[in-house]
Amino acid sequence: MSTFKALMVTKDEAGAQHVGWTELTDSDLMDGDVTVRITHSTINYKDGLVLSAKSGVPRKFPMVAGIDFAGVVEQSTHTGFIAGDSVLLNGFGLSETHFGGYAEKARVKGDWLIKLPKGIDAHHAMAIGTAGYTAMLSVLALERHGLKPSDGPALVTGAAGGVGSVAIALLAKLGWNVIASTGRSSEADYLKSLGASEIMDRKELSEPGRPLGKERWAAGVDSVGSHTLANAISMTKAHGAIAACGLAQGMDLPSNVAPFILRGVSLLGIDSVMCPMALRLEAWKRLAIDLDMKKLDSMTRSIKFADVIDEAATILKGGIRGRVVVNIS
Ligand code: NDP
Repeated sequence: MSTFKALMVTKDEAGAQHVGWTELTDSDLMDGDVTVRITHSTINYKDGLVLSAKSGVPRKFPMVAGIDFAGVVEQSTHTGFIAGDSVLLNGFGLSETHFGGYAEKARVKGDWLIKLPKGIDAHHAMAIGTAGYTAMLSVLALERHGLKPSDGPALVTGAAGGVGSVAIALLAKLGWNVIASTGRSSEADYLKSLGASEIMDRKELSEPGRPLGKERWAAGVDSVGSHTLANAISMTKAHGAIAACGLAQGMDLPSNVAPFILRGVSLLGIDSVMCPMALRLEAWKRLAIDLDMKKLDSMTRSIKFADVIDEAATILKGGIRGRVVVNIS
């Protein structure tokens, strides 16, 4: 029986987690109606948490890590897919309750899969990954709120990270004046090349601020949380909105009601993991139209599968710029 490589998180009797390489066979895979030969995955912040072997993300053990994958269908009993289809999967419990993308094969529910949109190959699908698809969900939420570039600038926090880099490229292409908040002033040229028109030192947002600040932006994509999100909200123009999708600074939200009741500001929650399929399909369709693939290439580098543990440690330190594709096979 042929085996394939996988990166697994296990838990010992004392409750400690361990990350290690293993060989699996098809019979080790979890239940599902589609088997996929994985060609590419990626590294998101959440993957960093899982591979730190300290997070509460995996809820079943042993668990194959990796919240995203792209590849080719090998076998399917699902009516929507046949062998040879090129597909991608984001979230839906991968690396939490279902074996994920850091393996050469996966068996999943066909209802979780998306066929690669026209113009997006497996490499680009993982260059986008959950981070980029979350950036798109955030932009869609701001648009649904009725916001448009003529309302004022858009703030992007965690700008040089994965969500932030894609959000800047998308918002700039859609005509927004983008203010990029970053702790890495050395990345100013990079952020401008993606379309940012102003660079802000993240220290301006990361400390406790005033209940209501000067109105500076109409919209925002925040992947940082904590004081940064509180300040982003307090400096939002009347009837603007912030899409909150991350917690790189912290999970807390030390805010107050003043921006909501005195300025009608809205806080829009973004969840990529269990996002309904119709919205996923809309996000991927829009990514194919509104994300400049040259900009995506400029923010992306590729690594070997064997290097994924080292890179995952780097992302937790805020040390990865843009996006990383993992070449699985
Ligand atoms: P990255 O590490 O690529 O980006 C995070 C960025 O946040 C960093 O690059 C850095 O940007 C900034 N940052 C890091 N630490 C701090 C800090 N202590 N204070 C302020 N800023 C900080 O991660 P991703 O882009 O993959 O994910 C970003 C966040 O979004 C994560 O919290 C992740 O869990 C969340 N997320 C949520 C999803 C959802 O479904 N809601 C889906 C995807 C991601 P810079 O150097 O420019 O300051």
